[in-house]
Amino acid sequence: MSGRVERVRARMGELGVDALLLSLGPDLPWLTGYEGTPLERLTMLVLPADSDATLVVPRLEAPRVEPPGWVVLRPWEETEDPIGIVAGLVGAAESLAVSDQTWSRFVLALQAALPRARWRPSSLVTASLRAVKDAGEIAALRAASAAADRVAEQLLRGEIALVGRTEAEVSVDLGRRLRAEGHERVNFAIVGSGPNSASPHHEPGRRVIGRAEAVVCDFGGVFDGYCSDITRTVFTAEPPAEFRDLYLAVERAQAAAVDAATVGMPCEDVDGVARRIIDEAGYGPYFVHRTGHGIGVEAHEDPYLVGGNCEPLAAGHAFSIEPGIYLDGRWGARIEDIVVATAAGPDALNRVAHDLVVVEA
Ligand code: ZN
Ligand code: ZN
Ligand code: ZN
Repeated sequence: MSGRVERVRARMGELGVDALLLSLGPDLPWLTGYEGTPLERLTMLVLPADSDATLVVPRLEAPRVEPPGWVVLRPWEETEDPIGIVAGLVGAAESLAVSDQTWSRFVLALQAALPRARWRPSSLVTASLRAVKDAGEIAALRAASAAADRVAEQLLRGEIALVGRTEAEVSVDLGRRLRAEGHERVNFAIVGSGPNSASPHHEPGRRVIGRAEAVVCDFGGVFDGYCSDITRTVFTAEPPAEFRDLYLAVERAQAAAVDAATVGMPCEDVDGVARRIIDEAGYGPYFVHRTGHGIGVEAHEDPYLVGGNCEPLAAGHAFSIEPGIYLDGRWGARIEDIVVATAAGPDALNRVAHDLVVVEA
């Protein structure tokens, strides 16, 4: 984490931010190693542009905090007013940036206590810094992806029973396996079967998976502080030609977008590469989401591979490439890998094969 606070201070200087206020969300652990607990009690790091930082934390949380040397700990007692403490630390600073995920009740109280302040989201300061991963972060993302790969391999080998089980049961099973492979947290395990495979963010439910159905499995979690996220689509019998045709378009679009994800390529052009292939295959209207999202300490973060984002990819950007095609009420398919842009070209962290696999288990 060394160097991050200097880069944050430099960025604050560029933007004219006098103080950064970090509460819930990934910015605080990314910067200090400490993740605030989502409580009604306020946790907030006050980082002025040019003086020492103070972490205001509930007394009962304080034993869990091991702050870096540049942070002074300020535990507050149950009878104290943490808003007043933060307002005192902010002092005369007027241009403030506050964590995007801070509870609004705290933001509203701080706004009342600091009537002259101007407020911006902390992501303005941190997002572009967090998006570029250093070698240690890329190693962590690689380990997270390798662990998710081991679960995907189990799926493709038919070791995770699908037919006759509910989507919810398979979802719990995927999550259990992510943990068994070393994840400390499961973020999601989407299982969409049959017509539900056409709903990209389907909530796994009581539907029993049948024979001759598409099953989209999209799962990921947190491994040593960094996120994994992988999608594979299988068919529970020999798939009909129509489904093969759809799947092939997804597979070609995904591979072409990975190849296109080179340093300097605008994010929207990577999206465009996937979209053109799906368009030309006749499925244009059925690719209803962006091609990918950045990933790091947060499952979704900058950069977003979406039309309108002309930001060029930089070495160290880590992101998903996950085109899909969804025919409402019928079936759908998505393939997702995590990729890092490097000077030597795109580096796909997920290595599980993309061929359409029949799982009869
Ligand atoms: Zn998604
Ligand atoms: Zn995913
Ligand atoms: Zn994703």
